[in-house]
Parts: sequence; structure tokens; C-alpha cells
Amino acid sequence: MGSSSTVDLSDIPSVDLMTELLRRIKCADKPDKRLILVGPPGSGKGTQSPIIKDEYCLCHLATGDMLRAAVAAKTPLGVKAKEAMDKGELVSDDLVVGIIDEAIKKPSCKKGFILDGFPRTVVQAEKLDEMLEKQGTKIDKVLDFAIDDAILEERITGRWIHSSSGRTYHTKFAPPKVPGVDDVTGEPLIQRKDDTAAVLKSRLEAFHRQTEPVIDYYAKKGVVAHLHAEKPPKEVTTEVQKVLSS
Ligand code: ADP
Ligand code: AMP
Repeated sequence: MGSSSTVDLSDIPSVDLMTELLRRIKCADKPDKRLILVGPPGSGKGTQSPIIKDEYCLCHLATGDMLRAAVAAKTPLGVKAKEAMDKGELVSDDLVVGIIDEAIKKPSCKKGFILDGFPRTVVQAEKLDEMLEKQGTKIDKVLDFAIDDAILEERITGRWIHSSSGRTYHTKFAPPKVPGVDDVTGEPLIQRKDDTAAVLKSRLEAFHRQTEPVIDYYAKKGVVAHLHAEKPPKEVTTEVQKVLSS
């Protein structure tokens, strides 16, 4: 990326430039926020993240998305992560801590971040807190997407994704305008390889055994807000907005 003086903006439509300008003006007044979204697979973290991101001008860092991109590109990180991901197990703490350490330094995270799917172990949480302490910052809020396991199989097996944007659909709860096609780009949607009832079982096991303790870890610091993630998406958004504005 060059500096602004070397970037040619003349071909960018005026409406896009104005929209970006207005976004930056709006963002200037927003308080910084460093958020963690914790919840089992299918609890709605990826659905709520873009709404929070736009409202507070944050970056959205989803370790699952980053790892899937690394697997698809067959990078050394992707090669190391693939086996555990296919089985629905967690990849090693060192791999994910490394990617987050790098990602939170990006300019788009200047006003804060939404960590979606990280930290997933207490070790990851401790490492994250060390990183933030070095920057003189800390986690402001942990949103706990509390939900009964029984609801998740239908959510997971009906999920369709637009992989390049991360946009998420559901055959029953959030169908695209045209089945199998992204509303915005018209590109095909995909289903994740691990979004099966069988792999979901291991993913839920990993969640209860390794990730739930992360909620207790942050509860002791007094920063956890519990959400009713079984409610319809709009009602969850209202709960999130209430928590974040308080
Ligand atoms: P996560 O990121 O926590 O794994 P997603 O946000 O991808 O979960 O949601 C999983 C699936 O459930 C998606 O297909 C999504 O469209 C759908 N979904 C998300 N939130 C809700 C909700 N509150 N009610 C019903 N379906 C939902
Ligand atoms: P997700 O997209 O959050 O459902 O994550 C998909 C898969 O990526 C998980 O089942 C894990 O194998 C791996 N993964 C994502 N985030 C983490 C993390 N923070 N720690 C360990 N493994 C992770």
C-alpha cells in the first residue's frame, strides 16, 4: 500500500468517497472498544460481529476465518492447523496467539477490535492480556453468547457462507435472496467442511472443556456480559447494543 499521495482516487466513485469520509467522521467520535465474543459454534458471533464493527468502527478478527484462509492458501500455518480443524479440535495456542498478536497491530484496529473465536483457552486469554498490557490497554467487555447445545445442530448444518467477505446465511433463519448465492456479490456460497453434526460434537466438547473456563477467567475481572443467544438475531443485536452502550 502506498501513502495517500501515491494512491489514485480519481476512478473511485464520488458516492464511495463520500461514504468513506462520513464513516471516518462518525468514527472519530466513537469510544475505543476492545471486545471478545465467546460462545459455542453457531451461537451467532459471526452474525453480530459486522453490526458491532460498523457501529463502533472496530476491526473484526475471527481466528477461524484466518485459519481457513491459511488452510486454503496452503501456507505453513494452514498446513499445521488443518488436521485439528478437520477433526473439530483446537489448534495449538502458539499458532493462534501469533496471528492475533500480529493482527491487532493493524491500522484498522486503531479504535479497538472484536475478537471472534479467540481466546478459546485460558492460556490464550493470559497471553492476550500480556500483549494488551504491553500496549497499555485491556479488554473492555466479553460478550458471552449463552445458548443451549440442542439448538446448535440446526444452526450449524443450515449455515452457508460467502467465504471472501465472511457473510453468513442460513437456509431457514437467514436465507439469501437466491438460494446458494451471495446477496451482495452474486458469488456462490459454500458450506464449511466442519459444519456437520458429527464434527459439531467434537467442537462442542472442545468448547465446554477448554473455552468455558475463559468465561470464568474474565468474569473474575468483572467484564463479562451474558446474552440470550437463542433469541432471534435482531433481539440479540438489541441486547448487544444495550451492553455496549452502558
Ligand atoms: P458463530 O459465528 O457463532 O459460529 P454464526 O453467526 O455463523 O455463528 O451463526 C450460525 C448460523 O446460525 C448461521 O447460519 C446464522 O445465519 C444463523 N444464526 C445466527 N444467529 C442466529 C439467531 N439469533 N437465530 C437464528 N439463527 C441464527
Ligand atoms: P470457528 O470458525 O471459530 O468455528 O473455528 C474453526 C476451527 O478453527 C476450530 O474448530 C479450531 O480448530 C480452529 N480455531 C479457531 N480459533 C481457534 C482458537 N482461538 N484456538 C484454537 N483453535 C482455533
